[in-house]
Amino acid sequence: MEITLEDKIQYLKGVGPKLAGKLHKLGIEVVRDLVFYWPRRYEDYTHVTPIAQLNRDVSWSNGEPGQNYQTIRGKILGVANKLTSRQRMRITEVMVADETGTIKVVWFNQPFLKQYLKPGSEWILHGKVAYSTFTQELVMESPSRVRQPMIVPIYPETNGISSGYINKLVAGLKPVISSLEDFLPVEIKAKYQLLDLVSAVSQIHFPKDMETLEKARERLAFDELFLISLRAHIAKENRNYQKAKAITTSEDQVKGFVDSLPFELTGDQHKSSWQIIKDMQRDVPMNRLLNGDVGSGKTAVAAIASYAVIQSGGRVVVMAPTEVLATQHYESFQKLFGRFPKVSIGLLTANFKRVNNLGGPDAEKKLDKDRVLGAQIVIGTHALLQKNVEFEDLSLVIVDEQHRFGVAQRAALTGLMGSSSDKDLHKPHFLSMTATPIPRTLHLALFGDLDLSLIQEKPKNRKEIKTRYVEPHNRDKAYEFIRKQIQAGRQVFVICPLIEEKEDEDKVVTDLFGLDKKSVVKEYERLSKEIFPEFRVAMLHGKMKPKEKDEILVDYYAGKYHILVSTSVIEVGIDVPNASVMMIEDAERFGLAQIHQFRGRVGRGEHQSFCFLFSNTRSPLALRRLNSLESVADGFRLAEIDLETRGPGDMFGTLQSGQIELKMASFSDRILIEKASEAAARVIEEDRTLSQYSSLKQRFEVFEASKHFE
Ligand code: ADP
Ligand code: MG
Repeated sequence: MEITLEDKIQYLKGVGPKLAGKLHKLGIEVVRDLVFYWPRRYEDYTHVTPIAQLNRDVSWSNGEPGQNYQTIRGKILGVANKLTSRQRMRITEVMVADETGTIKVVWFNQPFLKQYLKPGSEWILHGKVAYSTFTQELVMESPSRVRQPMIVPIYPETNGISSGYINKLVAGLKPVISSLEDFLPVEIKAKYQLLDLVSAVSQIHFPKDMETLEKARERLAFDELFLISLRAHIAKENRNYQKAKAITTSEDQVKGFVDSLPFELTGDQHKSSWQIIKDMQRDVPMNRLLNGDVGSGKTAVAAIASYAVIQSGGRVVVMAPTEVLATQHYESFQKLFGRFPKVSIGLLTANFKRVNNLGGPDAEKKLDKDRVLGAQIVIGTHALLQKNVEFEDLSLVIVDEQHRFGVAQRAALTGLMGSSSDKDLHKPHFLSMTATPIPRTLHLALFGDLDLSLIQEKPKNRKEIKTRYVEPHNRDKAYEFIRKQIQAGRQVFVICPLIEEKEDEDKVVTDLFGLDKKSVVKEYERLSKEIFPEFRVAMLHGKMKPKEKDEILVDYYAGKYHILVSTSVIEVGIDVPNASVMMIEDAERFGLAQIHQFRGRVGRGEHQSFCFLFSNTRSPLALRRLNSLESVADGFRLAEIDLETRGPGDMFGTLQSGQIELKMASFSDRILIEKASEAAARVIEEDRTLSQYSSLKQRFEVFEASKHFE
């Protein structure tokens, strides 16, 4: 009987119920999963290095294990089994020679190898090359071996399922693979010179040479990016078929508000504000991301948008991820609307209810929730998302640092954006704000359905935050400097990292809480008892209750503490103008963009501010990265350096974007991302329902149903 893609894996030849169970652990349940199960890496026995030219400089691979794998081809001169004296390990030791030289090759605890590795026989060996400081010679360790040049795919393994076993199973699927239906429209394949699906999948599993393998990888990477992009373009296109209330506010009215502000807008603030107003003058819902570095003045833009909305009779909800931030927004809005006292602004968080122009502080306590929720601009935390809360005439929803909200809260937010306006079938306009610098490619790849407004230019009065990497032996000097700052009345932040430990290439084990807490607590103890016993020190970490955290921040803001030791929870945009020093421990563990966010916590007032980076790393790459913070002040540029040097992992640390997992593609592959996005746009422009492209439509539905993309 013919095998089909949907067949259960356990009915394949060579798989029983027991092995099927193990395959399930790898996510392989039906034949399709196996066909699309990609190798993790390849052992290339086609590119051989002459023994004399093997890379001897082992230090270059430090910190990047697995980098020093090399392949040699040679004859066996002699073989011996030995015992190590102390460890009682059995070593098979072989001398291998080619025309250029000889090298020692060792295997551990596999004495039976001796009978295969006959002197005079020729082998191709692929393995880790290391310089033994003990015997002062170059050694190849536990290599894999073949007789003929070939490229062997290595699949992710699990207990009881080896890469070789998967290799055999996949080999049995050649007929299924060769009848795969290619969902990519021919025009697209032609335009971008992509391999067809059958060749691509075949080459991935049974590579002919490295060049074709690269073409295969490119095709499959394109597919991933294309599907993500397609989803964004469909969402964007569908918006054109939804209704929103068009605002009727005139440009002159908005100008009046802008003129009333206590400062002149920067060019980028100006441009972003008009982009937003133009969007809202249409009767389709705006969906826009306002991306601007910390301190770039996003709040003023949000206030301008809010003003435009209330002038045409609509209402605005502004959501922030924490109480402190919501309160700061409330205060900023009060100031920015200072000349428009008739505009009512409300604040609702778990602990606070406030409305302006409704009496003094006493009135606040008596306020009932409905008064707050009835304001024209309602600012708050997720406390706003309680059930039964409805916002009449809601025209604009602004969300600050949306990625900081939990999954459930984000779902509730979508409800908020639908519910109140369902009655008249209008959706509110939506403005998302973030200080996380998102490089253009990443935006294109992930958030293609959001239009983008960028604020890159900072208000003119900003002082540069002086940033220095502090060498370990200069730590005391830095402490002295900090002491003087505190004596002069300033406050200090100290950030300790979340610690992530890599267990092996495939599995990243994270013990956020245990280790995170430990390091902050330890540092807190050290600073408060040993280094700065004369100052008041507080600590903050993710394991504390939100209320506790908020209290500490409020007290720190009020100047009750000199030093705040914290994990990265501090990163969100809190504003303490009196803080002038940001000190970061184990700085090499953070992404550059994230450190940039941290240092944005200082320099918010009139005081010259400083950022000190501490690190014990000796990796030249890590040090170069830290040094770049001294000279580069542009968050977007730093995010790009991150993307180039460390991949998008750091970005996701900050974005917490859920389970975005690319198997073949990389978010740093700018050219492919651009192609995929362009192709998706073209397809959707032509046929938004994909009805002309039935197999693409089918593939897209499978993609949508899979959970790998939040
Ligand atoms: P962020 O983009 O980080 O949210 P804010 O909106 O909090 O930045 O603005 C940071 C500070 O800069 C605020 O104190 C704000 O009043 C001030 N500000 C905003 N725009 C300007 C401007 N064009 N000129 C001078 N100061 C500005
Ligand atoms: Mg802000």
